[in-house]
Amino acid sequence: MRRFIEQDVNRALTPTGGFLRGFSFSLNPYIGCAFGAAGGCPFCYVRALPVARTADGPWGSWVIAKRNLPARLEHELIALERCGRLARTTIFMSSATDPYQGLERRMRLSRAALALMAAHRPHRLLLQTRSPMVERDLDLLLALGPNVIVSITLETDDEQVRRRLAPTSPSVARRATTARRLRAAGVFVQLAIAPMMPNCAHRFAELAASCADRVIIDTYLDGDGSGGKRSRALGIPQLYARLGYDGWFEAGAERDLVEAMKSRLGGERVLLSRAGFNAL
Ligand code: SF4
Repeated sequence: MRRFIEQDVNRALTPTGGFLRGFSFSLNPYIGCAFGAAGGCPFCYVRALPVARTADGPWGSWVIAKRNLPARLEHELIALERCGRLARTTIFMSSATDPYQGLERRMRLSRAALALMAAHRPHRLLLQTRSPMVERDLDLLLALGPNVIVSITLETDDEQVRRRLAPTSPSVARRATTARRLRAAGVFVQLAIAPMMPNCAHRFAELAASCADRVIIDTYLDGDGSGGKRSRALGIPQLYARLGYDGWFEAGAERDLVEAMKSRLGGERVLLSRAGFNAL
């Protein structure tokens, strides 16, 4: 049984560093992850980070909504605007949890944040999600215009792999449809292939060409913030061996996909790991 908790916070925007150091701030309307229920994504290293101990119970069993986030955000955006920094400000939403999980239907905190940023525009908002619910906010994404990039997480093009490794997440086809719809409406869309899972390189490149302006390819070894140690501690190599995905955890496993994507999309539309995520 999942617990939903409402809390007040002192700040909406958090200064970034580390993997996202190219951004000024991260913005997380929620803490916790509904996609992490019942085991969720076996590759999820967030469950081992301090943020996973914000509430009692395993990662995925609770979600906290930052009830007063819109009021705090408005105050902070206006302050940035007044001191002339807003036009240089870059925001990553969200870094630790998905801004469009089920609770958003009722709380509408992500929608409220988008409305505020449409009124007080940062230089760039990168909105990352795996949920088709983002389509609900197309009106606000269009209002943000060139100031927003929507990043749809899509770890593989293989639905069987998705079912095994990200069983609580939306299907490959549904996420691609969301990307296609947003892009067709005029939103700049990237696919975040992160972490890259077993895939068919040429088929994946065709899929990306049909629905995204650019792709970012990231691996467990480059992207888990520990050179693969966190993923090893979670038993990913053993899980891959059990599933017959030998070799996909190793260094260089992304090479075929990178080549196929470059050849189909052009090199400038294919970005890698940390440098890619920080390309604004
Ligand atoms: S969606 Fe992200 S945060 Fe949630 S369980 Fe999966 S990997 Fe972890």
